[in-house]
Amino acid sequence: MRAEIVSVGTELLLGQIVDTNAPYLSRLLPDFGITMHHRTTVGDNESRLTEALKLALSRSDIVFTIGGLGPTQDDLTKETVAKLVGDEMVIDEESARHMREFFAARGIEMPENNLKQAMGPVRGKILPNPLGTAPGAVFETESGKAIIVLPGPPREFIPMVCERVLPYLRERVGSESGIIRSRILRVVGLGESSVEDTIKRLLKSTNPTVAPYASLGEVQLRITANAANVVEADKLIDEMDRRIVELLGDRVFGRDGQTLEQVVVKTLVRRGLTLALAESCTGGLIANRITDIPGSSATFMAGVVSYSNEAKMNILGVDERLLIEYGAVSEQTARSMAEGARRKLGVDVAVSVTGIAGPAGGTPEKPIGLVYMALASGAGTIAQRHQFAGTRVDVKLRSSQAALDMLRTFLAVNT
Ligand code: AMP
Ligand code: MG
Repeated sequence: MRAEIVSVGTELLLGQIVDTNAPYLSRLLPDFGITMHHRTTVGDNESRLTEALKLALSRSDIVFTIGGLGPTQDDLTKETVAKLVGDEMVIDEESARHMREFFAARGIEMPENNLKQAMGPVRGKILPNPLGTAPGAVFETESGKAIIVLPGPPREFIPMVCERVLPYLRERVGSESGIIRSRILRVVGLGESSVEDTIKRLLKSTNPTVAPYASLGEVQLRITANAANVVEADKLIDEMDRRIVELLGDRVFGRDGQTLEQVVVKTLVRRGLTLALAESCTGGLIANRITDIPGSSATFMAGVVSYSNEAKMNILGVDERLLIEYGAVSEQTARSMAEGARRKLGVDVAVSVTGIAGPAGGTPEKPIGLVYMALASGAGTIAQRHQFAGTRVDVKLRSSQAALDMLRTFLAVNT
């Protein structure tokens, strides 16, 4: 079974509001074995909406429309759909009563043009909207396809999807078409092409499929399985998960919504270790990411944003001679920052970062994007050198990612 979504609204096209409804619905469809190949956004214009709907109906079994159910002239989705499928619209008495009550409860007179919102299809059915005035509707075409018309405001859209649309789909789709399930494996410390190259063989698989997606400082691998039920799908996914980990090893740091900072905080807390940070070019970004995680207070003691040389010397105890001889962006300074933070803040583990984020300050020997980081612990001090690409903000983010990964890897090795 195929479905697609047509979001209706000139404000969406102009970028004045972001379409949050369509992705919400998209995420729910795979559980019904429903495939989405297209998503369209169209303005409040009858002929272009008709065009979009015709195209959608020509290639999908179910078409969802979102928005354009309001009382004003430019809200024309229901009327347009009715015309297209050759159905008539009549006042739905139940919806009209609900609407009158809705206005009465607020002590305002109902404008007459509101009544048009209470119209519903003769052949199809109304989807009640307890949280607003405009009900949704299911229209049926002569060939047995459906257009499901839904309201735009998210606080009306989401409950209608949960309470009306999902039961409708369950009934319509039944269980024979199976389900589609996904899992995301999250990879750090490798570029997209190197991940693709390592798992080349697996990318050819058709069930489950594996699709790479690169974002800043991370590559995600989406495993998607099609199977009769959840247990079967999970079996396929588990097997592929295992094969990917076999090839990428500890570069896979988490799954689905798991972030690097979550993994790091969880491990530190479990091990009863305390953490401090000495950040220069990341300006507190790592501390920010760590403190985004609930429960981080059990491990995170302090973060110093030691931006100037004076701060590196006065707060962390970095020796001035190191700064003069090797510079603020050097392995020696990174090591000294981490060791100073560990000593002065009295923690088990301290991580430092110092680098050149740009756009100014680069030299041939120390180009923009050069970042040193170090980790000091009871087992000694380790350091890394990185050369990152991108803007100032990109370099900060990539640095924070690499520093968290250094910490994660250290914790995995030093058990
Ligand atoms: P409408 O039903 O087109 O009159 O939309 C009413 C309001 O719902 C708009 O002003 C938006 O704030 C919101 N809205 C409409 N469509 C969407 C959408 N796809 N995602 C999120 N909000 C929406
Ligand atoms: Mg609109």
